[in-house]
Amino acid sequence: MIVMKFGGTSVESAEAIERVAKIVASRGKRSPVVVVSAMAKVTDQLVAMGQQASSGNCEVALESLQALRQRHHLTAGELLGKKRAATLAPKLEARFSELENFLRGLAAVRELTPRGSDFLLSFGELLSSLIVADAFIVRGLNAAWVDSRECLVTDASHTRAVPQMAETRERCAKKIAPLISRKQIPLMGGFIAATAQGVPTTLGRGGSDYSAAILGAALDAESIEIWTDVEGMMTTDPRLCPAAKTIKQISFNEAAELAYFGAKVLHPATLLPAIHQNIPVYVLNSRNLKSTGTEITAQAPPSKDTFRAITAKTGISIVNVVASRGIMVHGFLRSVFEALDRHSTSVDIVAISEVSMSFTMETRRLPKALLTELEELADVTPEDKQAIICLVGEDIHGKPGIAASVFNTVAESGVNIRMISQGASEINISFVVQESDVPKAVRHLHEHFFPAAGQVKLGRTKVKTNGSPRRSQAPESKSRQTERKPLVAKSKSAERKAAGAS
Ligand code: ADP
Ligand code: ASP
Ligand code: MG
Repeated sequence: MIVMKFGGTSVESAEAIERVAKIVASRGKRSPVVVVSAMAKVTDQLVAMGQQASSGNCEVALESLQALRQRHHLTAGELLGKKRAATLAPKLEARFSELENFLRGLAAVRELTPRGSDFLLSFGELLSSLIVADAFIVRGLNAAWVDSRECLVTDASHTRAVPQMAETRERCAKKIAPLISRKQIPLMGGFIAATAQGVPTTLGRGGSDYSAAILGAALDAESIEIWTDVEGMMTTDPRLCPAAKTIKQISFNEAAELAYFGAKVLHPATLLPAIHQNIPVYVLNSRNLKSTGTEITAQAPPSKDTFRAITAKTGISIVNVVASRGIMVHGFLRSVFEALDRHSTSVDIVAISEVSMSFTMETRRLPKALLTELEELADVTPEDKQAIICLVGEDIHGKPGIAASVFNTVAESGVNIRMISQGASEINISFVVQESDVPKAVRHLHEHFFPAAGQVKLGRTKVKTNGSPRRSQAPESKSRQTERKPLVAKSKSAERKAAGAS
């Protein structure tokens, strides 16, 4: 059997859902299990409605609810025809009135907890999956709607819950395997799950990819297909750089690194279950029924380019912690790490000297209480609106001159580098720049490392016509960045992978 996941844009309209039905029909003989996201933008709208209601603007939230209601009924009507749409309508309405009651409750208590947020966000996938299941049935596909909250078991870390694989496996064997044996097509919402006690949870934003991989592992799938709105994993985000090219084959390690460092096309934890059971993952374009996309497997043939891809992760803060004068240097770093541990914070890049430490983490995950605690032992300056740019490639290890080439290219784009990390993971070079510099730096790097066919030269660094940059002659110490003394740091990716990022 295979697991097929369709993202928000792939189910954004009746037309898109039609295409999904055709794609699933083309895989009919391979016993597909289908996972769908909420229709495009619905989760964002639910987040906004939660904020509005909990801050007392219930009427505004209810207006958005009305728009959501219309969009879903309209799509169901277009896909199902009057009669079948009328049978589905009460099921959709039951969800909408539950949602309305919840919003009114939020307005009364003026508080949205992480647990409440998971309940609220679950409506997007519940609604879309009900519509897609009926659309399949009307088109002759033997779909069976499954409640993901009865199959995917997680812990209670609301908003980014961690799957409990043993229980999930058991539930899937009971609830999903019999449907497959009866030649039905189990269809469910991604992103949402529940604790063993049935309290709804979510796997973190973009988590439907992760749901597909968890199901794939729990059901021992032959492959996991992630259908989205681009032609596979690309050499960089095509929205940042339209010249981005599709990567035909990539290794689990490289793809996991890209996902972690901002390639939104895959939720960062998606590959963990696949790696564990060596299940190939395909990223495919749902707008192109013949898409061959990207194949992600344990090993991939070496890339003809120096790097496999470039990513950027925005919304990053750098926190500079400098030991206050008079504080004993001995034990300073230990105290900082202990504070990080007490607040369960996981950092991306760390730079250390005897009396100072800088680290980066997602701004939205930076606890205020951590900063307050650090201020007791040091001078603390957080800087937000930063971004991590990461170049990934399995073949960069041990090749001289690559870092120089990267930093020269960034210098040529006129962008200042704040921190650098190379080493710990051996397959990436990452560095921190200001968020506003990301498009400029990424485009320049992409032009340099993935030149269009026939391109011979870019800036000061010569490029071979086959796409591999020659070793740069400019020593790294001469680069503009190094003159500005960026902090050279260790990546924490090895630790992160062991812990299972989500
Ligand atoms: P879905 O709704 O199907 O889950 P997402 O919006 O989550 O889709 O992910 C697809 C988007 O990821 C693409 O539209 C693209 O802009 C972005 N993206 C970022 N980095 C990459 C990359 N390296 N390759 C492909 N897409 C990328
Ligand atoms: N709908 C969820 C989100 O927007 C999950 C997903 O799309 O993967 O985050
Ligand atoms: Mg996604």
